[in-house]
Amino acid sequence: MSFELPQLPYAYSALEPHIDARTMEIHHSKHHVAYTNNLNAAIASTDLEGKSIIEILHACIDMPAVRNNGGGYYNHNLFWTIMSPAGGQLTSTMENAINESFGSFDGFKEAFTKAATTRFGSGWAWLCVKDGKLEVCSTANQDNPIMPGIGCGGTPILCLDVWEHAYYLNYQNRRPDYITAFFNVINWEEVERLYRAA
Ligand code: MN
Repeated sequence: MSFELPQLPYAYSALEPHIDARTMEIHHSKHHVAYTNNLNAAIASTDLEGKSIIEILHACIDMPAVRNNGGGYYNHNLFWTIMSPAGGQLTSTMENAINESFGSFDGFKEAFTKAATTRFGSGWAWLCVKDGKLEVCSTANQDNPIMPGIGCGGTPILCLDVWEHAYYLNYQNRRPDYITAFFNVINWEEVERLYRAA
């Protein structure tokens, strides 16, 4: 059993104008494919073959190829599902949870935007559940908080790819504009489902 590239739950153009179709197509059909294929190659004929992606993320810290591609595989899987063309509508459950942890939605937005903006170079911003509360963090490259000792150590329920490949075609160097646009496509119903499961 090898890992497979998931289908996007919407068309490449569905998130326009916030995220353009060409970026989505290259991101999914080139970058995510590469992480998936390279993960399969990296674990082939090792003890990790046949393990779940979570088990692999727990074990990959000292294996750069597994760490980079296992992270890339998992992170993009999550990223596609927490966006939606019908996104941007906060659910009442998530509004309450956000208010409890950040004081207000603006407080959350500020913390998440800061994490995404100040991540130097390539990486991800995260919203996680940790000890029953919500926490924001960021990670470098394709690392994620599931990996031991990385980020806040919580369970991810929302993520934002801040690699240049995620925004450069449409936004060039304007990462802050891409982050602002992302809030319009967040699939809060899926985030709530992950929050309840965490
Ligand atoms: Mn990416």
